Amino acid sequence: MLDIKDLKVTIDNKEILKGLNLNIKPGEIHVLMGQNGAGKSTLVKTISDHYDCEVTNGSITYKNKDLLELDVSQRAKEGIFLSFQNPVEVPGVNNSYFLKTIVNEKRKYENQEELDAMGFLKYTKEELAKFDIDKSLLQRDLNDGFSGGEKKRNELIQLLLLKPDLIMLDEIDSGLDVDAIKTVAKVINNLLEDKSKSLLMITHYDKLLNLVKPDYVHILKDGKIVKTGDYTLAQQLDSVGFQGLE
Ligand code: ADP
Ligand code: MG
Ligand code: MG
Repeated sequence: MLDIKDLKVTIDNKEILKGLNLNIKPGEIHVLMGQNGAGKSTLVKTISDHYDCEVTNGSITYKNKDLLELDVSQRAKEGIFLSFQNPVEVPGVNNSYFLKTIVNEKRKYENQEELDAMGFLKYTKEELAKFDIDKSLLQRDLNDGFSGGEKKRNELIQLLLLKPDLIMLDEIDSGLDVDAIKTVAKVINNLLEDKSKSLLMITHYDKLLNLVKPDYVHILKDGKIVKTGDYTLAQQLDSVGFQGLE
């Protein structure tokens, strides 16, 4: 699915990722943990081609393609998805219109028929109902005035409607109440029943990891993965902290 070799990335000419290696196979769940500023968000932003991040060294291969050759929209259409740590507010863009546009762009790319307004409404209603997700956010402008938790819920709606192959979630559980975290877990576990999909998830909390069991836990420090383990590494971290682990 994804193979990263000796990746170096700068932001504003400052080196943030300093030679990172990561391999993710179809069906695998990987978790990235690490202290604030370690470079976790930089990694997932680089994979999705965020304009902040400049790759200065190394390679990223995705489904046997050179990912660095693809721009941000091509990567999205190829099935790469990032739920942002801090989703941007876009006043003046209706959320439902935005969601219909991204869903149809992907359908076009896959040579599927585009959904008209009625078709999109039906699809959205059915998908949200499956997981008991409130529809009221659809009528508003994209993230405009949304609370922190509502922004995360709206990222979840995008995930649910797009059904990407490489799912990257940057602290989607931060600021969510217990019930909302359970909903996030249900959506993720449902999507991952398709074993051709993979998950790369950043979290600081054990709560989500109890519901979405990772195959691998990586600890990022100063732009490199310094330790990889299984689920017990996250549990260890939860009890002793990063410094205790060192
Ligand atoms: P993490 O997600 O692990 O907390 P980030 O990847 O967000 O860390 O950030 C890594 C480093 O890059 C931090 O020192 C952060 O201040 C810096 N950084 C991130 N984005 C920018 C930016 N747009 N401009 C300047 N520095 C940035
Ligand atoms: Mg952070
Ligand atoms: Mg971050």
